Amino acid sequence: MKEVCDCRFVEPLLLWWRKSKRPRDYPWRRETDPYRVLVAEILLQRTRRDKAAEIYEKFVNAFPDPQSLARASEDEVRNIIRPLGLEKRAPYLAKLAREILRRPHVLREGRFEELPGVGPYVASAARVILGIPTRLKPDSSIARVLSRFYDRSLNTRRPADTPWVDECLNRCAPQNPESRKEYFLALVDLAWEICRPRKPRCNLCPLKNLCRQLRQS
Ligand code: SF4
Repeated sequence: MKEVCDCRFVEPLLLWWRKSKRPRDYPWRRETDPYRVLVAEILLQRTRRDKAAEIYEKFVNAFPDPQSLARASEDEVRNIIRPLGLEKRAPYLAKLAREILRRPHVLREGRFEELPGVGPYVASAARVILGIPTRLKPDSSIARVLSRFYDRSLNTRRPADTPWVDECLNRCAPQNPESRKEYFLALVDLAWEICRPRKPRCNLCPLKNLCRQLRQS
């Protein structure tokens, strides 16, 4: 793995992110309530972040805790999340709230995968934000960044499940929880803002001097 993943991206990535993190200081990134962090990560799945941020505020105002979400009708939930195109997730969110009330220790202990509608990426991302020790789970956008940086191929059907990406992401992660959180969020932000699926903005990229794919082009 060492020759595949030398972790040279970590230092410039963190420097870039620490210098310019203010515009990306989304409310859920400062949140300490696991319920709210989980809601945010669910709303962020396959949606635009700026739009998700808007809907997140409305959602937590309407349903500030699992009790209020469990009491809400599916229509109330659906109406709030509709602008994100997530209507189909309304029943899952209601189910999630009911399960949290039934088994609150699962939430307290960070065993988020045991809750309905919470997959491994959402569970891991929520633990990182909350500072709970966890193995990091890549999504397809983090896989894209590492694949370009190392000029290595990905599993075509499920890029996030490429074994070397998972190994590399975790091998290079700082151990300190705060730096680990910054590292993870920096990769998410780089993938979103700079190393975009189409037309990556390599001229603005903090990794441009080391990126193998850019050197090959
Ligand atoms: S230099 Fe370009 S391809 Fe390489 S990581 Fe940065 S944005 Fe992605």
